Amino acid sequence: NKITIAIDGFSSTGKSTLAKQLAKQLKYVYVDTGAMYRAVTLYAMEMGYIGNGNFDIEGLINDLDKIQLKFVFNPDLGFAEMYLNDKNVEREIRTLDVSNYVSQVAEIKEVRSRLVSLQQDMGKNKGVVMDGRDIGTVVFPEAELKVFMTASPEKRAVRRYKELLDRGENVKYEDILENVQKRDYIDSHRENSPLKKAEDAIEFDNSDLGLVQQFERIYEHALR
Ligand code: C5P
Repeated sequence: NKITIAIDGFSSTGKSTLAKQLAKQLKYVYVDTGAMYRAVTLYAMEMGYIGNGNFDIEGLINDLDKIQLKFVFNPDLGFAEMYLNDKNVEREIRTLDVSNYVSQVAEIKEVRSRLVSLQQDMGKNKGVVMDGRDIGTVVFPEAELKVFMTASPEKRAVRRYKELLDRGENVKYEDILENVQKRDYIDSHRENSPLKKAEDAIEFDNSDLGLVQQFERIYEHALR
């Protein structure tokens, strides 16, 4: 019997690594909801609603109908990539620029309700692993398995820093740490669906646990 797996937590705690492994092993669909918030943010930047001290929330809300998001599976990578209005934006949405604005976009009620309903639709047939901030609390409160991941901000910043360097971005560790901490704050203090652990979620601190151990622990739960 297929189930719904919700993986929530702070940024760069290894949510997507765990979610991808689970999806692969269980032959489930993996949905990275952060990518959807990032794609909406990229759209707002491209349209000039955000940037240069600008933040035109009304403009973005009015355009929500024009923003088409879809995941397209890439067999070479083994996971789906984010498409914004039929363009592959998987790379662009991971930049520090997008990271610096995404939490403000994610605070907008209209953006959230639109993305949440898309996500509910994507997971309606079960057999899905979804990672984000509000999956176990808002998107799928009835998910059979919920995980809440944490790790120290420094560990997470190091992880993100390495990822961005690998992608050839010219970044400073201090800037990444600041971004991680700022997003944590906004994500957990916002009015609309703040980041918090669902009561029935399994919590784990990923600062020291190795990838293999973390995977095995959760995989065991998924098979129950
Ligand atoms: O997971 P990732 O770090 O890519 O998410 C980027 C941002 O998108 C988060 O910092 C958060 O502001 C927002 N987000 C959200 N709800 C989700 C997923 C992401 O608010 N379900």
